[in-house]
Amino acid sequence: MKQKRKFGLMLVRMMLLTLVLIAAVGAPLGFQPQGMPEVKAHPMKEQAAVGSATHKVNLAAPQKVQTVNNSTNGAAATAGALASAKPKKKLEASQVTKKKAPGKTVYLTFDDGPSPHTDQVLEILQQEEVTATFFVLGQQAKRYPEVIRRIVDGGHALGNHTYNHDYDALYDSFGHFWKQVKATEEVLREITGTRTPLVRAPGGTYGHFDKTYFNLLEQGGYKVFDWNVDSGDSKRKGVPANEIVSHVKKEKPQDQVIVLMHDGGGHEETVKALPEIIHYYKKLGYAFSTLSAEQKPVQFTLDPGIGKKNRPIPSAEWVASNVVPNAALFEPEIPLTVEAGNVQMRLAAGEYVMQDGQYLAPVRTVMERLGADVYWSEATQSAFIEWGDSSVIADTQRGVLTAKRKDGSDVEWEVKFERKAQALWIPLRPLLEALNHPIVEAVSTATERRVTAQ
Ligand SMILES: [Zn+2]
Repeated sequence: MKQKRKFGLMLVRMMLLTLVLIAAVGAPLGFQPQGMPEVKAHPMKEQAAVGSATHKVNLAAPQKVQTVNNSTNGAAATAGALASAKPKKKLEASQVTKKKAPGKTVYLTFDDGPSPHTDQVLEILQQEEVTATFFVLGQQAKRYPEVIRRIVDGGHALGNHTYNHDYDALYDSFGHFWKQVKATEEVLREITGTRTPLVRAPGGTYGHFDKTYFNLLEQGGYKVFDWNVDSGDSKRKGVPANEIVSHVKKEKPQDQVIVLMHDGGGHEETVKALPEIIHYYKKLGYAFSTLSAEQKPVQFTLDPGIGKKNRPIPSAEWVASNVVPNAALFEPEIPLTVEAGNVQMRLAAGEYVMQDGQYLAPVRTVMERLGADVYWSEATQSAFIEWGDSSVIADTQRGVLTAKRKDGSDVEWEVKFERKAQALWIPLRPLLEALNHPIVEAVSTATERRVTAQ
């Protein structure tokens, strides 16, 4: 008994030690690991080092790439200056249309969920070993986040069906529609860590979308999908399952079929009809797939009478600051390679952002991967960087980078620092310049981003 207790104590101690170790190792990415000594004395300053727990971690492997969450990427995009991928996207689209139809494919889509019916739908899809696309409402996703996770875990695709499906708000101005798309996108990103570019207009685009809606959503990086087979399950309340099935069968099957169904509240008849609908397409030799941003969207034609709605047109300024930078959120994630002083290291997408034409990254991440030492002084709110012969101070209170030159002089750069998630983000250009490694080349293509410094 006694021995057991001793063993238990030992275990507790070991766990505590592990926790301390984790805290120490986890520290280099942020500035202030919670529970760590606040002041990291700067060795160059001859102050009586207060409990001088100098924090010094050199990452042996500069290639080490962090797991990335799209959320940080988002910040990159809102900052703008990333509209360069546009022509490439157009090229891809035309290539896709030229390609021969890859056989018959059916895309089952479910709108208005998630609801308690969604799990029933997921179960059927799993039994039948097929996948589908769920155009969900933000307010429903917020209510049933665990269902959203199950949708993703099941290999299905998520789409954005606006926040509350309220026609009056959504179709009185594009600004309102946009706001709801963004709100839903955020809810989904919080749950899943990623953003979906797929959008379906409540009620479909016909009679709702004008050119502004179509154009600005495309410009913002979204793909709007209507459908070409309506299951008729929302024609009125409680359409019986057999009527839903015959509705689907009535349509002349095209090679690419997008079936509209609903998994919102009150759609138990759709759940009942689903197995037979799946069997029907299986018998016809269709493959089942999820919608993706890479395919050509199915869209209704423009309602010629839509202009009568006289909706306000968003200003150029609003488009420039909201819509244009948004497209970057859906660009492929590209790492940034930084080469300086014959050392090369990589920042994964999300570990850096592009803002006003400049790359910003957490100073500790960048410098430690380059083999430098970084110290933080809580008292002066400054970071001290030591790299080879170079010594630089980032004073966040004054917004100044100061390089200590060999001849004893100071050179200063005015810099806009940013604090994000306990890390200090610095623009790379002045940082490298202050360290005596000015950037000589910056490359940004669809597949590569690289900064080469002296
Ligand atoms: Zn709907």
